Amino acid sequence: MACTRCPLYETRHHVVFGVGPEHSEVMFIGEGPGEQEDLKGEPFVGRAGQFLDEMLYIIGLSRKNCYIANIVKCRPPGNRDPLNVERDACSDWLRSQIRLISPKLIVCLGRIAAMEFIDPEFRISRQHGSWVEIDGIWRTALYHPSALLRDPTKRPETFRDLISLKQMVLEHCPNTILEG
Ligand code: SF4
Repeated sequence: MACTRCPLYETRHHVVFGVGPEHSEVMFIGEGPGEQEDLKGEPFVGRAGQFLDEMLYIIGLSRKNCYIANIVKCRPPGNRDPLNVERDACSDWLRSQIRLISPKLIVCLGRIAAMEFIDPEFRISRQHGSWVEIDGIWRTALYHPSALLRDPTKRPETFRDLISLKQMVLEHCPNTILEG
């Protein structure tokens, strides 16, 4: 993939498309790749990614039974938030991914993804863990793993959100075999 639709292509090392089985029923969506992701070409492989893996492990999910992607596929310099123009340019890629994967559940990681996929006015501190069905896909948002690394006091709430996510997987994702 050699996309040059937005200026982020000029500074990237790799396009970070996504990871996971093609027909995953659960799809996690973050904001954009960080430094490690840019270098390795895989989403969520830095410290925040390791923490995400631990979060998934708690409820029997892993990169083998869910899909992980980002709103923008190339790293915004300095890990800044992706600009609107970059998100708009990249949105076709992500929407095509969602169409192909056809997930039953979308889990937004952090405020930016929640504003894109749930509600432009989404308030992560108030609305994390709540579920809404839009266009036949149930959606929720968790605190971004980076936020949980920065502020461990948010972890108990996230643990409850993960338990709710596990319940939704059991109810809506008959082909997802939870591990452990
Ligand atoms: S961020 Fe998306 S739209 Fe921009 S160059 Fe990368 S793949 Fe293309």
